Amino acid sequence: MENIKVLFDIGYLIAAVGFIVGLRGLSAPATARNGNLMAGAAMIFAVLLTLFTPIEGTPNPSNNYLWIFVGLAIGTGIGLLYATRVAMTAMPELVSLFNGFGGACAIVVSVVEIYGKSAGQVAFSQELTILLTLFIGSVAFTGSLVAYGKLKGSIGDKTIPQIVNTVVVLGIIGMIGYMVMGMDVNMTFVFLLLGISLVYGITFVMPIGGADMPVVISLLNSFTGLTAAMAGIIYDNNIMLLGGILVGSSGTILTILMCEAMNRSLLNVLIGSFGGGGAAASAGSDTGNQVAKPTTANEAAILLFYADNVVLVPGYGLAVAQAQNVCKDLEAVLERNGVNVRYAIHPVAGRMPGHMNVLLAEADVSYDKLMDLEASNEVLPKTDVAIIVGANDVVNPAAKTDPSSPIYGMPILDVEQAKRTIVLKRSMSTGYAGIQNQLFFNENNQMLFGDAKDSIQKLVTEVKNME
Ligand code: NDP
Repeated sequence: MENIKVLFDIGYLIAAVGFIVGLRGLSAPATARNGNLMAGAAMIFAVLLTLFTPIEGTPNPSNNYLWIFVGLAIGTGIGLLYATRVAMTAMPELVSLFNGFGGACAIVVSVVEIYGKSAGQVAFSQELTILLTLFIGSVAFTGSLVAYGKLKGSIGDKTIPQIVNTVVVLGIIGMIGYMVMGMDVNMTFVFLLLGISLVYGITFVMPIGGADMPVVISLLNSFTGLTAAMAGIIYDNNIMLLGGILVGSSGTILTILMCEAMNRSLLNVLIGSFGGGGAAASAGSDTGNQVAKPTTANEAAILLFYADNVVLVPGYGLAVAQAQNVCKDLEAVLERNGVNVRYAIHPVAGRMPGHMNVLLAEADVSYDKLMDLEASNEVLPKTDVAIIVGANDVVNPAAKTDPSSPIYGMPILDVEQAKRTIVLKRSMSTGYAGIQNQLFFNENNQMLFGDAKDSIQKLVTEVKNME
């Protein structure tokens, strides 16, 4: 038995190395695909090891294998079907949904672990861990479902008085405290805690709006990692603990990076003094009687052809239009004619962290052509033409000039510093934060209306005609 245990521990160690090497691979587009495969393979290995680990005192665990493998097959089938059919633009919602399922697992684990136990049967630390897993898992579950609805556009921002959330959190802390202090495993209380925590997940995410969602999404992600780590403690399973810690800590790092990208403290986002759509959003949408200047593909192509430096600024509209490959075509034809082309990437452009990098990597855009926010803002004042491809909030100067705007304070790409800007979008509609963009009305800006992919294709044809 001892020897077999050692073999399983070595297997867990191999899986742990797989997780870490895989995660490391995710740090660059060139290695991300392999990193993902490596971490996925390590996870399958870890799950199989866990299933076949001999448990002392349980001579025949194989009684449950049929149930386990039928469950695994159904879950894998649904996941595969969904993930292969989902449109690239719906990927952020899917990621949010999967994160919510992680929270749901934590709920099931904690209820199963505490169900039927009576006072004295569960140690203080174990009861505290289980109840915290229940609380955080519930918040991750319903919070991710609300985030899913918001990303999909089916749920809008709703104002919830801050006092409501504060009272609910204090109530939850009080309930957990009462249960662990009294060491009384009362199932009525457990289910009450579950219900209130589920509601809190909704009321916590519902009011967060404007451009704050990236922070909340990565925070929910770290919550799910935390619950997996706590489940590892409950089951005394090291690989689950390690996997959870990796997800929880990388989610926390991403949350901090997102907060930095938005120039906000986490507390500021959570107490809702930023964003909030509604009234604040409309305050920033007044554009008076200004009229934006439309242009044609021919006129825009002439500007590009005679430019020395061009910067492409991708945003969510690039993902909707699937314009990444035509961007690469435009880059190629311009560079052939001596134009220096680069890409300015805002950290929250699109609908998930790294969204633009993933799409441009898919089109084989060279990684060293991508500039982060800081480098972009150094280059933009020396740029002849900045082409904004379906971006809106991330180039909205209201973030710098209008204190009443819901995105005020968020660092943006200073495209208005370029000599000329051309905005590619279908209409004058607003972006995710729901606010109008003064950039569109600037003297040096022109609007090329239409689907971004069609517009860029036309630009490529026009530039080729000029060669
Ligand atoms: P925005 O959402 O601000 O704007 C996207 C623009 O794309 C719209 O104004 C839309 O205008 C245009 N568009 C849509 N479809 C097309 C198309 N087919 N062709 C051309 N244009 C199109 O995007 P940004 O990338 O600038 O900003 C991202 C926003 O999303 C930020 O507010 C960010 O906080 C938020 N967010 C980001 C997350 C992340 O992790 N990155 C997660 C959640 C939210 P029109 O309809 O007129 O074409």
